Amino acid sequence: MAKSQEFDFGELDELYREVILAHYRNPKNRRQIEHADIRCEGFNPFCGDEVVIHLKLDEQERVAEVGHQGQGCSISKASVSMLTEFLKGKTLREGEALSHVFHQMMRGASLSGEELEAMGELKAFQGVRKFPVRIKCALLAWAALEDSLREYHSRSKHS
Ligand code: ZN
Repeated sequence: MAKSQEFDFGELDELYREVILAHYRNPKNRRQIEHADIRCEGFNPFCGDEVVIHLKLDEQERVAEVGHQGQGCSISKASVSMLTEFLKGKTLREGEALSHVFHQMMRGASLSGEELEAMGELKAFQGVRKFPVRIKCALLAWAALEDSLREYHSRSKHS
């Protein structure tokens, strides 16, 4: 039996496959960040994917530095690679907004042209929707980001 660790790209469209594999083979921002302001952590028990993302913010709450660690399948790794690429220089609000659109896309909602444009390479994950068990792999990093941003906002409200 094929274990879920390696994704079978057989039915995934060529274009999507290339984008995802490029990030999987050569992940962006794979490093540890010292003195991070935000730590996001996620685990997907269905596949064994683990993701840890560290963010360092500047005074305007823009992402000054971002790095990720962890291990997992090609889908989860490509997803966190693209997520961290997107976050660089963005505000937390922009990160949350994109996460929202990404979740919608993975649920199969139709996006506006503008939203699709903002997705950039992340559009490649549309092809993963055909494989329901893999949707969690694609969403893992985003769910982890949303959780820790919620926590971050509630913390900063009280301080
Ligand atoms: Zn996975």
